[in-house]
Amino acid sequence: MKEQAYVGRFAPSPTGALHAGSLVAALASWLDARAHGGRWLVRMEDTDAPRCVPGADREILRQLAALGLQADEPPLWQSQREAVYQQALDDLASRNLAYPCACTRRDIEAALAAQGHEHRRHEERVYPGTCRDGLRGKPARAWRLRCGTDAAPVRIAWDDRRLGAQSQDVTHEVGDFVLQRADGIWSYQLAVVVDDALQGVTHVVRGEDLTDNTARQIWLQQQIHAPRPVYLHLPLVLDARGEKLSKQHGAPAVDVADPLAALRTAAQALQLPVAEAGDVDGWLQRAVRAWACRWANGNSRER
Ligand code: GLU
Repeated sequence: MKEQAYVGRFAPSPTGALHAGSLVAALASWLDARAHGGRWLVRMEDTDAPRCVPGADREILRQLAALGLQADEPPLWQSQREAVYQQALDDLASRNLAYPCACTRRDIEAALAAQGHEHRRHEERVYPGTCRDGLRGKPARAWRLRCGTDAAPVRIAWDDRRLGAQSQDVTHEVGDFVLQRADGIWSYQLAVVVDDALQGVTHVVRGEDLTDNTARQIWLQQQIHAPRPVYLHLPLVLDARGEKLSKQHGAPAVDVADPLAALRTAAQALQLPVAEAGDVDGWLQRAVRAWACRWANGNSRER
């Protein structure tokens, strides 16, 4: 079961402390790395500065340490990697794979309405391609990645270790997506793909709410010639109303005063039976064995 090459990561956005849902992603990614004899990295996804909460990054690191989830390298902050993202964008632009876009939100809505797509909800909006062939004298605002054409659409098929075969027509379901926003902020898609590639991440273990980003990320990996990691998307932890736990909706921070209790709750959410142990390290060792049993062949499909 040893694969020295395995590199996994936990990549929280420091918009608040770890809550029950993000702890599940942290624990599962750590367990998967340990069960594979691999390395586990922590990366602070703080490109979207206005959404980040000062001190949340330090608090997350403190919580992880209290829970015994130690990273194998010093954590990395995306906010310090401007030059790396700029280089990736420059490279894509020099190959005409990325292009500048002058459209405001209102321009995009007007173009979609003209095409009869005004009923689309905000998150379903497919960029109508207005600036694909040039800015027509308008100032550049954002940068977008080319994602195929009607004649040659981009269809990405990939396998998830839990969800099985997945596919998406990125051209028609997403369209040319943003790499750098009009306010200069690097998009999640660009930063996550560039960093996973540069950090040599081989396995991505994260919440199911991110599943539908995966095809976009694979397309971008292909454009920068980065290898495709193996994906596992975990079931989400829901609150009493059946909604995803999130910092924005006020999910309480994980209380690490009793680390074993917090870890047990996370293991339950993963339906991972872990025998009781007296201390955190003992419990984690048992949890690694339980995880290895459940995910022994790399897959545990749910139908
Ligand atoms: N930063 C993202 C989040 O906190 C996770 C990114 C990822 O795991 O790909 O939702």
